[in-house]
Amino acid sequence: HPHWFSSKSGIYHSKHAPVDLPSDPFLDVVSFIFSHRHDGVSALVDSSSGCSISYSKLLPLVKSVACGLHKMGVSQGDVVLILLPNSIYYPIVFLGVLYLGAIVTPLNPLSSVHEIRRHVAECGVSLAFTVPENFKKLEPLGISVIAVPENEKGLRHGCFSCFCYLISCDFDLPQRPVIKQDDTAGILYSSGTTGVSKGVVLSHKNLIAMVELFVRFEASQYECSCLRNVYLAVLPMFHVYGLSLFAVGLLSLGSTVVVMRKFDTDEVVRVIDEYKVTHFPVVPPMLTALITRANGFNDCKLQSLIQVSCGAAPLSSGIVDDFLRTFPDVDFIQGYGMTESTAVGTRGFNTEKFRNYSSIGLLAPNMEAKVVDWNTGAFLPPGSSGELWLRGPSIMTGYLNNEEATMYTIDRDDWLHTGDVVYFDNDGYLYIADRLKDIIKYKGFQIAPADLEAVLISHPEIVDVAVIGATDEETGEIPVAFVVTKVGSMLSPKHVMDYAAEQVASYKKIRKVFFINKIPRSATGKILRKQLRNCLTSKL
Ligand code: ATP
Ligand code: MG
Repeated sequence: HPHWFSSKSGIYHSKHAPVDLPSDPFLDVVSFIFSHRHDGVSALVDSSSGCSISYSKLLPLVKSVACGLHKMGVSQGDVVLILLPNSIYYPIVFLGVLYLGAIVTPLNPLSSVHEIRRHVAECGVSLAFTVPENFKKLEPLGISVIAVPENEKGLRHGCFSCFCYLISCDFDLPQRPVIKQDDTAGILYSSGTTGVSKGVVLSHKNLIAMVELFVRFEASQYECSCLRNVYLAVLPMFHVYGLSLFAVGLLSLGSTVVVMRKFDTDEVVRVIDEYKVTHFPVVPPMLTALITRANGFNDCKLQSLIQVSCGAAPLSSGIVDDFLRTFPDVDFIQGYGMTESTAVGTRGFNTEKFRNYSSIGLLAPNMEAKVVDWNTGAFLPPGSSGELWLRGPSIMTGYLNNEEATMYTIDRDDWLHTGDVVYFDNDGYLYIADRLKDIIKYKGFQIAPADLEAVLISHPEIVDVAVIGATDEETGEIPVAFVVTKVGSMLSPKHVMDYAAEQVASYKKIRKVFFINKIPRSATGKILRKQLRNCLTSKL
């Protein structure tokens, strides 16, 4: 076996050299970020107005927000809700709250009243930052609310006077609270792809580890380029992926983050060209949109782009091929992470000599993994698929108020059971097969929905598809496909079933097909199978 795999313990070690992490137990992530100085350049740029915040203004603004909140009665350990879309103020609010020793909990600003209420109660939120459109949703909850404008232009409006005050306090806290690396920094919610989303408690230590093992480590691969890195921030900062990069990691590196409120393909093309964006982290649906756009118009060259990285949801090999063909000069990688691991996990790693676009990459530095047979509990060597377990400094403290779920997910030896099915190849690259929970069990055979989805999406008349298991008395479960067809397509369920049957082992056959208008997806492009299951119950 290769040296990075120990057959005795079943442990996979990272192939990357270990990275030093700060050992001082009294360190908070904000002090850590600003221990690196980057004067002169823009830290945050608003893509629509061009308004920007320089690195020299960043820390004073963060301190100002902390100081203002302190005066408003917010103190260490209090929980602050950030119910905002992306803006240049998002990272400032986030870091300001942390600077005070208070705790941030982010949430999708499009959440319903019901979702917000549950979130506020569960986390014990005392104050919220939001957009005026959400006032009505927050009113009945009896917490203080601060409205945040889109950019500098909005600041003049009266409803933002409180925020205006916060960012113009202009002095530091009278006394900095003592913050430990082990103190809670954030409560982030998982996407709710498999069930009710869970509150993931992350410490300052988790965030510091994320900065080093994910963001700084990856950027160090591109250091040969003398250009300053400019990142396009379209991924939502209320999710761990966007938050880790745009509100924390990249600000420690001194990159410029161009913030976009909402994904729009034409706008993305314009902004990449105007701001000479070099790095663009995406999720699969954005990648597809970008390819379609580039193949339709000649103006879409994206000459400044150096790297596109994709994560959060599975990507079909067809899309990867299309991307490489359309943008041959752009480096492409996939990455894997989860809320519970503070976005750290695996990242693609291409060198001059060796390129691998289909894998989710190599294990991050300082992280360990196991691949476990979910039937026998055996630890598996390279080449065999099983559940991925992860261990390392970025793994969450636990789920909020849910000891049972925490014990079920993190075992006594600190392994996080990810619920994802993966395998390592002989070069140490990982491949993701599917989620354990989604594996369909037909007559004792195990079927990965992702395999069937990959087959169906290759049909020229199918634009989107999701496969789930439906309970079946006779066989246990049967694979059912939800299919979105091209406009005008005459495909019948039989066509679809025959098409798949020709290409897969007979036990994997699709046994039912439903045509729908749209596959339900989360903000980060994940198929919401939970919704499809509900839909199935009503259809059957
Ligand atoms: P929930 O846990 O609430 O059901 P979720 O697992 O989708 O939702 P996140 O923490 O946002 O919530 O997402 C992590 C999951 O996303 C991983 O466990 C994995 O299943 C999936 N994922 C992440 N990166 C990739 C990737 N590159 N390819 C495929 N799947 C990925
Ligand atoms: Mg999950």
